[in-house]
Amino acid sequence: MAKGNTVRIAVLPGDGIGQEVTAAALSVLEPLAKRHGLGLSTETLPAGAFHFRDAGEAFPEESFRRAQAADANLLGAMGWPGIRYPDGTEIAPQLDLRFRLGLYAGVRPVRAIPGVPVALADPRARAMDFVILRESTEGLFHSRGRGTVTDDMAEETLRITRATTEKLSRFAFRLAERRAERLGRRGRVTLVDKANVFRAFAFMRAVFDGVAAEFPGVDSAHHYVDAMALDMLRRPWEFDVLPTENMFGDILSDLGAGLVGGMGFSPSADIGDDHAVFQPAHGTAPDIAGKGLANPTATVLSAAMMLDWLASRGAGQPFADAASELERAVDAAFAAGLRTPDIGGADGTEAAARAIREGI
Ligand code: ATP
Ligand code: MG
Repeated sequence: MAKGNTVRIAVLPGDGIGQEVTAAALSVLEPLAKRHGLGLSTETLPAGAFHFRDAGEAFPEESFRRAQAADANLLGAMGWPGIRYPDGTEIAPQLDLRFRLGLYAGVRPVRAIPGVPVALADPRARAMDFVILRESTEGLFHSRGRGTVTDDMAEETLRITRATTEKLSRFAFRLAERRAERLGRRGRVTLVDKANVFRAFAFMRAVFDGVAAEFPGVDSAHHYVDAMALDMLRRPWEFDVLPTENMFGDILSDLGAGLVGGMGFSPSADIGDDHAVFQPAHGTAPDIAGKGLANPTATVLSAAMMLDWLASRGAGQPFADAASELERAVDAAFAAGLRTPDIGGADGTEAAARAIREGI
């Protein structure tokens, strides 16, 4: 990506509150881009369950092609109860994107936002700031939709490859280095596995350890996933970067979201070698869709991650500055009393977006 060129963002709002939260995030991005002089263009692409219902196609090839060609993708959420492919499978173009673009690193920050209630009473929980790094292309999802099922048994495959584990581990250590710089302390990467029971995880651990040796400036450790579930409740403020297998990461990131206010506060990024998709960790929330109640914070924070990633890809320092400012504006809005309905407040999607815009 050449510095100074216009950065092209593909926006895939999707279904339900996906449309509401992406609109809110764009309303924040626009003044932010202006203020920092970011050359940004956005293009909205159709995909999702509603599009399938209306046009007979969930993910038009043209949408995929444009998403692939964009510098980054901002996604809402996709899928809707009652709208499925004729064979009964769920409509999930976001998974197609993840697999087709090889987005192996699922970045799920868990950070306590000032003023937003956290699930734990211990005052140290206010300092929670760690990142779950979910491998997103293999693990227990390897045989997704292709497992073997007979009348008497069902079998799925767990796959861990050296190539992907090395990439995920390097990603983890680099992320820890950048966080160490920002947070002013030594970085620590903890692989979450089940190496005591599965050979696949012992293999993952060995590959991880090989990469760890390349990063003497960052501490490395291992933790069994069951112990991690316990320790995420007992002492989550001690963790930094937690790379893990696909299914473990899926589960732990929902637990992480629960620690810091719920899905509406959980941003995410799915990153590959050359592409990235940024989206809130939540789904389309049919129960609140169309009511203006959705919390846009997760999407706004995902947009901040997108700007930061673009900066790391050569878009220029103003993108990194804008990312920091956006995160600060979110924090400031909640610190000043913004309360969205998911945490018992009365500030809906528009009010939340406005409060965040005011801090820019
Ligand atoms: P998916 O299968 O796509 O992961 P899901 O079934 O896990 O979806 P979500 O759509 O994430 O469900 O919603 C779970 C619950 O969290 C719902 O009750 C929903 O209203 C609530 N929720 C999700 N996102 C938000 C948000 N941004 N703001 C407020 N509430 C939300
Ligand atoms: Mg879910």
